[in-house]
Amino acid sequence: MSIKRVQKKPKLIRLPEGYGPILRPTARETYSLRQQIFELVRATGRIARAKIARTLDISPGSVTALTAELISDGFLREVEETSRETSRGRPPVALELVPDALYVIGVKLSDELHTATLTDFGGNALASASQITTADKKSADELLTETEAIIRKVCKSAKISQKKISAIGVGISGIVNYETGVVAWSPLLEELDTPLGDIFSTYFKTPVCIDNDANVLTLAELWFGAGRALSNFAVITIEHGVGMGFVSDNRLFRGAHSMGLELGHSKVQLDGALCRCGQRGCLEAYLADYALAREASTALITPSSKRQDLNDYLKSLYEMAKLGDQASLKIFKRAGRYLAVALSNIIHLFDPKLIILSGKPMQYEFLYDEEMQIEMRSLALYKSRFDTQIEIQSWGSMVWARGATALALTELTKTIIVEGH
Ligand SMILES: [Zn+2]
Repeated sequence: MSIKRVQKKPKLIRLPEGYGPILRPTARETYSLRQQIFELVRATGRIARAKIARTLDISPGSVTALTAELISDGFLREVEETSRETSRGRPPVALELVPDALYVIGVKLSDELHTATLTDFGGNALASASQITTADKKSADELLTETEAIIRKVCKSAKISQKKISAIGVGISGIVNYETGVVAWSPLLEELDTPLGDIFSTYFKTPVCIDNDANVLTLAELWFGAGRALSNFAVITIEHGVGMGFVSDNRLFRGAHSMGLELGHSKVQLDGALCRCGQRGCLEAYLADYALAREASTALITPSSKRQDLNDYLKSLYEMAKLGDQASLKIFKRAGRYLAVALSNIIHLFDPKLIILSGKPMQYEFLYDEEMQIEMRSLALYKSRFDTQIEIQSWGSMVWARGATALALTELTKTIIVEGH
């Protein structure tokens, strides 16, 4: 069996300019022509009217009428065509989104570092900001105060007035109902069932969409990364918890209750290790950073007085493993085996084209090396299931906030492009 090498930088196909999912014809069918045209212009970055008509298989007259409408609404504008497809002798004209038509902010709230990115309508990230925070649980009001501070910071950095922000997307760890904006549970919040979406949108006087952090990470790939051209892929995030986002037919899978997929709390062992959720045998209890540290402190002699914080501790464990310390290496290898089990289950359940692994522990290659991938494939049935590619996300810490801007842009597409007409 041949094993595909893990690539640091996902390079699947050459993507066109622009941003947003590149929809397959079947995924477009339910959209109005206005939305289809808008999304095609967005996904290509710059496209001539004739090519829109050919791509969507509609009459040039419809394209002219609908694009005129989108131009007069201030969402599209005419620009010089740069591709070679234009015919000679005619002024080469293409359409693109008007970048300064609208601005959105994406925020990732965490128990370590809040991050925010301000993006224009053209998908350009104009500014980013971060703010160190404490790990203790907070009230909704305290979280609102911290969110306001980072929003003010990113607006100032982009030199854009907060009044010009049309929508805000927020990613937060925990169980979030995307439709209602209610955070059922989050390690950041004191209370259960907090209507954070309502609280934030009332305060900021703008639409605020809230989603699980693994979902916003998946949206970052779907809108701005390798996932743009993929109709079916999964993103696994391993940090304090283990999360998962799944894209099916160019759309984020949300399930019946609009909540995220809880891969971290799927059981891999009956009566197994204790998880943060209070239950036993969850995948997270074997794979998250705290689980690695816990395993290490049980298996290895670690003087408690020299115990550093979690990240430093794992780093030193990794250095020891690299130097050939078998006990340290075993900790990573064991966690890698649990990851192999989880990935083979995902392959069986969802049959994704690509699985993107993300999170700080991905700097420890022992977790996902060839040995892990051999084990993963040996657990998957049938040859057809061997084609799923595994890649490591190489984005920086702003990827979450970037993904959260996609939440805001999705909301705007719904209100101004679809419902506005
Ligand atoms: Zn659990």
